[in-house]
Amino acid sequence: MIETIPLPTTDDPVDHAFWQGCLDSQLLIQSCNDCGHVQHPPRAMCPMCQSMELGWNRASGMGTIWSYTIPHAPLLPAFAEIAPYIVAVIMPDDFPGLRIVGALADPGGNSIGGIDPGTVAIGMSVRLTFVQLVDDVALPCWFPAEAGITWEKEKQQ
Ligand SMILES: [Zn+2]
Repeated sequence: MIETIPLPTTDDPVDHAFWQGCLDSQLLIQSCNDCGHVQHPPRAMCPMCQSMELGWNRASGMGTIWSYTIPHAPLLPAFAEIAPYIVAVIMPDDFPGLRIVGALADPGGNSIGGIDPGTVAIGMSVRLTFVQLVDDVALPCWFPAEAGITWEKEKQQ
């Protein structure tokens, strides 16, 4: 667990289902029941047809790095502790019109960071994992699906 990172509000009716899905290791993507528009992050209304009838679709958890960055100091203390880490913009394979921002983590979701930035590239395939921040908040994160990627934790062993 990473208890010192600022936590999202998870009891808002607009995105409560999204955060509950994360606790269940599911990435839920919101869509409009009237026009089919897909959106992320979750909203109270469809921006295309103004419908309030919104539903949820489970994403496969496969995606592609569309862009990424490595945050540098000054960072909030909680993020300074885990730096260097990579924040990526992910294009989900099954929702190619969407972009989801998430950190890269180890495959087991034990920690954010620990990946050699030199091994990350735009266009790289990634898979979904969840990092448990506290008991009631799991953060969707991604790890490179390609072989040849090593994490600090593995290097130390
Ligand atoms: Zn709509």
